[in-house]
Amino acid sequence: MNYDIIIIGAGLGGLTAGAKLSKEGKKVLLIEQHNIPGGCATTFKHKDLKIEVGLHMIDGLDKGDPKLKIFEELGVFDNLEFKRVPEFYRFIKPGVDMTIPDNYEQAIKILAERFPAEKKGILKFFKVILAFRKEVFKVPRQKWRYLLSMPLFPFLFPNLMIRENANVGQFLDTLFKDEDLKLVLLANLGYYHNDPYTMSLLYYSIAQGSFFSGGGYFIKGGSQMLSDYLASIIEDHDGKVIYGHLVNEIIIENGTAIGVKYSKKSATESEQQNAYGKYIIANAALPNVMGELLKDTHAKTKLSMAVGNPEIAPSILSVYLGFKKPPKELGNGNYSTIFFDGGLSNQRELAEYQRTDLSKRVFIFVDYSQIDSGLAPEGKAVGSFSAMDYISDWDTLSKDRYKERKEEAAQILIGRLDKLIPGIKDEIEYYEVGTPTTIRRYTLNPEGTAYGYAQLPGQTGRKRVKIKSPVPNLYFASAWTEPGHGFTGAILSGYWCAEEILRK
Ligand SMILES: Cc1cc2nc3c(=O)[nH]c(=O)nc-3n(C[C@H](O)[C@H](O)[C@H](O)COP(=O)(O)OP(=O)(O)OC[C@H]3O[C@@H](n4cnc5c(N)ncnc54)[C@H](O)[C@@H]3O)c2cc1C
Repeated sequence: MNYDIIIIGAGLGGLTAGAKLSKEGKKVLLIEQHNIPGGCATTFKHKDLKIEVGLHMIDGLDKGDPKLKIFEELGVFDNLEFKRVPEFYRFIKPGVDMTIPDNYEQAIKILAERFPAEKKGILKFFKVILAFRKEVFKVPRQKWRYLLSMPLFPFLFPNLMIRENANVGQFLDTLFKDEDLKLVLLANLGYYHNDPYTMSLLYYSIAQGSFFSGGGYFIKGGSQMLSDYLASIIEDHDGKVIYGHLVNEIIIENGTAIGVKYSKKSATESEQQNAYGKYIIANAALPNVMGELLKDTHAKTKLSMAVGNPEIAPSILSVYLGFKKPPKELGNGNYSTIFFDGGLSNQRELAEYQRTDLSKRVFIFVDYSQIDSGLAPEGKAVGSFSAMDYISDWDTLSKDRYKERKEEAAQILIGRLDKLIPGIKDEIEYYEVGTPTTIRRYTLNPEGTAYGYAQLPGQTGRKRVKIKSPVPNLYFASAWTEPGHGFTGAILSGYWCAEEILRK
C-alpha cells in the first residue's frame, strides 16, 4: 500500500506531525507498537480511577507560546479543556517552605521578600530567562533558522550567542550567593535534567520562561485525551492508525527512505508486511533508528556520522496513587510539592541528590485533586510521585528483586509524604510503580528516557539533532530531535517536521 507519509510511533511528536499533514491533505499511515496512542502521554484505568502516566503540567499557552497557534489550527481548544494549575510549585527543605507562583511578577515579589539581599540577581535571572524565550520565538522558525546561519547573527542576538554554551549552575553562581535561593529556583530541574552544571541554560530558560510567562496547565481527563484527539484527526482525514504493530525496518532504496517493514509484535518474519511512503517520519527513538531500524549500511553510517553519540537523558521513577479521600481534605493545599528534605545544602550537591538513595532523593508529589482534573469520581483523588531515575538501577535485577525494589520505592516515598501530610498513608487505596524499564517497555526508548538526548549545552539549540535527516526522505519528530523533550518539545518537533515536509 502506498502513502504520502508513514510515521513510526504514536508519541506526541508522531501524532502532531500526522495530524498536521493529514489536515493538509496528505495520506498518512501511522504505526504504533502499543495498543493506544500517546507514548508517554497516556493514562490507564484502575477501577473508577484514571491514572495519569506522565503529565504534571504543560507550560505556556500564552501569546508568546508557539503551541498556541498549533493547538488553534488543529482544533485542540475546541475539543479539550485545559485547567490552569494553581501555582508553579511548593518547595520544601528544612528551614525553607515556599510556594512559587507560575507568574514572574509575583514570583519576583515573593523571592525578593524572602531573599532581600539577592533582589538585583533575582531581577536579572528573570530578565535573562524571559528574554531567551522571547527571542527564540519572536521570529517565524524558517527565518530563525536562516538567521542562525547568517554571520550577522551575533549582532542580532548577542545575549543568545554569549549564553548558548552556558549551563544553569554557573549562571546561578554568577547571580546569587544564597544556596537556598539557588535550590528554590532549581526545584523543578527534574522536568529537564538532573544536574544544573550540565543543563543547557538556553533550553532551561525557554522552558522555565514559558512556565513563568503563561503558567502550567493540565488536560482535563488526562493526557490521553490529547493523544486520542490527535489520532482521531489522522483517521478523520482518510489516514490510518495501526496499533499493536512494530516497525522492524525502514526500507531504503538507492539511498532513499521509501517505506517500512512492520508486523504484529508476536509475528514471525514471514508475517511481515511492507508499506511504502514518499516520506518516512520516525517518532521512534533515534538510537533505535540508527540501530535496528536502518539495515542499509550506507544510510546507517550517514545518519550515525551526522548524529554522533550524544548523551541520553536520565529516566523517571513514578509512583501512581489512588486516594480514598482528596489530600486537600487532609490539609494539602498544593498541586506540585517538591521535596528537598534529604539533606542537600547547595546546588553542587543537586546532581547527587537526584540519584541518591530514595530516602533522600529529590522528588515531586502531584495532587491532581487541587484542580478539576477529571481523573477521579467525586470524593476520591489521584496523585503521583516522580523522581529522576536510572535504568541501570533496575534492569539487572532478578524478577523477584525488581518487584521487591518497586515495593520499597513506593513505601519510602509514601512515608516521606506522610510526614508532610499526616494520615495520608491511610487514605491510599491503590498504588503502582513505574520504573525506567516500564517506560522502555511502553515507548521502546533506550534507557527508559522520556526526554531523548540530554539537553546539555553541546546538544541543544543549533547543535540539536536535525528534524531532516541526511538520509533523503527520512525525518524525525520526537523528543530526540529539535527542539527537545516535554509535551512542548515533542509537539513542536512534530509540527515543524510536518512544515518541513510540506515546504518540499
Ligand atoms: C513520568 C513522566 C512524567 C512526565 N511529565 C511531563 C510533564 O509534566 N510535562 C511535560 O511537558 N512533559 C512531561 N513528560 C515528558 C513528555 O511526556 C515526553 O517528553 C514526550 O511525551 C515524548 O514524546 P515523543 O514524541 O518523543 O514520543 P514517546 O512518548 O517517546 O513515544 C514514542 C512512541 O513511539 C512508539 N514506537 C517506538 N518505536 C516503535 C516502532 N519501532 N514501531 C512502532 N512504534 C514504535 C512507542 O511505542 C511510543 O508510543 C513526562 C514523561 C514521563 C514518562
